Order: sequence, then structure tokens, then C-alpha cells
Amino acid sequence: MSAKILYGKEFAAKIKESARLEVDDLKNNFGVTPGLAVIIVGENPASQVYVRNKHKTCEELGIKSEVIAMPATSTKEDLLSKIDELNAADDIHGILVQLPLPDAIKAHSEEILNRIDPLKDVDGFHPVNVGKLVTGSPALVPCTPAGCLEMLDLADIDGKRAVIIGRSNIVGKPMLHLLMARHATVTVCHSHTKNLADVTREAEILVAAMGKPKFVTADMIRQGAVVVDVGINRIEPKKLVGDVDFDAAVEVASAITPVPGGVGLLTVAMLMKNVVKATKLQLKVKT
Ligand code: NAD
Repeated sequence: MSAKILYGKEFAAKIKESARLEVDDLKNNFGVTPGLAVIIVGENPASQVYVRNKHKTCEELGIKSEVIAMPATSTKEDLLSKIDELNAADDIHGILVQLPLPDAIKAHSEEILNRIDPLKDVDGFHPVNVGKLVTGSPALVPCTPAGCLEMLDLADIDGKRAVIIGRSNIVGKPMLHLLMARHATVTVCHSHTKNLADVTREAEILVAAMGKPKFVTADMIRQGAVVVDVGINRIEPKKLVGDVDFDAAVEVASAITPVPGGVGLLTVAMLMKNVVKATKLQLKVKT
């Protein structure tokens, strides 16, 4: 058996198209153009690529995009006052601080992110949004796990026994709540989990988000499982692989996301949906 490949491009196109329709609706019926501000501090080349990509996707969908490039020497106070300004700006509905911050202010990342108005927090990292996700209120949810869930919905995948490997705030923990809200029974594994393979073999939906190249081997996967590989690992200057040994897993799974070309593409598409959602929450329009 060979698994169906869940190509991110296909799902990202659908997510973006749905965001575009909502942007048009906000413009035509409310006279509002959703606006995203991305703050980038310093000159990290990978961050510059990510920010350019976000800017380009906004333009594609008719979302106003403002990139605020701040010097690497910026202080915590510089960032906090820029965020205060954006929190008060009527034409900005989403604010994102590109991570990682330069070493000199890295230790203040949490304080800086928490200064963003929760209604404009399109990364979904603010404790208010985390709390809302946990309690099941309308929230801005981190883009990568939200994109994975959108993909499962679009592909009509309905596993009720799910296992997540990784418990980060960005991927693993939000994924737990999203899958649970979808009525799955979910186990979250992490670096201290004993007999990992015994747990992962229970999964109808297996999500790998650990950052360990090709760690998940075929014997860790239940026959016919759906495998969502969130990992992005650079093993050679020009070679990316996921957390799953794709070539072996494809023979066991019923569906699997490739790396590259899988989950990574969903993240930016979902950011666009979050900008639209943030705009609607601020206008008090039903999301
Ligand atoms: P993280 O380092 O914050 O968390 C990794 C998690 O994996 C931890 O909870 C840890 O306990 C667990 N883990 C590590 N080794 C393990 C092991 N041997 N057994 C079981 N669990 C183990 O990472 P993150 O930010 O959640 O990212 C995970 C991966 O997803 C990375 O490769 C990252 O690049 C990728 N990622 C991709 C996207 C995307 O857009 N596709 C977005 C975010 C992260």
C-alpha cells in the first residue's frame, strides 16, 4: 500500500481563496481593509525570507501589509512603544513580531509578545488567546496547528484516536486542544515519554512536531494512520527533511504530509485567515 500524499500547496490554495473571499466581503460590506503589521528586528536571513513571504501573500489577497524593520540594536522599550502604537492604529488588525529576536533582547520575548493587544495577536501566542483556546471560546490560534486542522477538515479526515509527539506552546499544546475540540482522544508525548512507539502505534492521526530528522520510523506507525509531519530539519545546506522517515512511512500510512511541500505551506495561508478573523473580532462581526 502507498499512502495518499497530502500536498500543502493544494490545501493552502483553498485556505487562501477562502481568506480572499472574506477580505472582499469586509471591504465591500464594512468598508474595512484588513491590515497586518510585521515587526522584524535585525537581519536574520531566514526571518527576512519568512517576512517577505508573508508580505507577498498579504498583497496577493488584498490585505494591507506593513513591514516594520527595526535595527538589531533596538531595545525592549523601542519594541514595546512600537507595539503600543500599532495596538492603537485603526488600520492595523493584526500584529506579529517575527521570532527569534536578537540575542540582546531575546530574554524579553515573552514580555514583548504579551504587549500585543490579544484581539490583534495573529500568532495566537498571548495568554488570553491560549486561555480562550483551552476553554473553547473564539480565539486566535497559532497558525501551524490551526493550518493542520484546516487540512484535516478539507481532506475529510476524521480519526478519533490522535497522538502528538512534541509539547511546545507553538505546535504540540495548541494541537492537543484543537484535536480534542474535534472529539479526538489525544495523547501528547514528549522527550520524557517512555516506550514512545507503543503510544504512537495507537494513533489514527499521528502528529510529529519534535524537530528530530526522520525520527518517526515505519514501526512507530499504525497501519492506515494519517501522519502529519510538522518537523522542518535542515540536514544539508539545501536539504530539508521532516520528523518522519517519509519513504518508509508512506508504505504504512493511509495519508501523509511531505517535507518540504506539506505543513510548512499551510502556516502562511492560515496567518491570512487569522488576520481576517482578528479584523472580524475587532469589528464584532461573526467569525
Ligand atoms: P520545540 O523544540 O519547541 O519542541 C519540541 C518538542 O519535541 C518538545 O516538546 C520535546 O519534548 C519533544 N521531543 C524532542 N525530542 C523528543 C523525543 N526524542 N521523543 C519525544 N519527544 C521529543 O519545537 P517546535 O517549535 O514545536 O517545533 C517542532 C518542529 O516543527 C521543528 O522541526 C520546527 O522547525 C517545526 N515547525 C514547523 C512549522 C511549520 O510552519 N511547518 C512551525 C513551527 C515549527
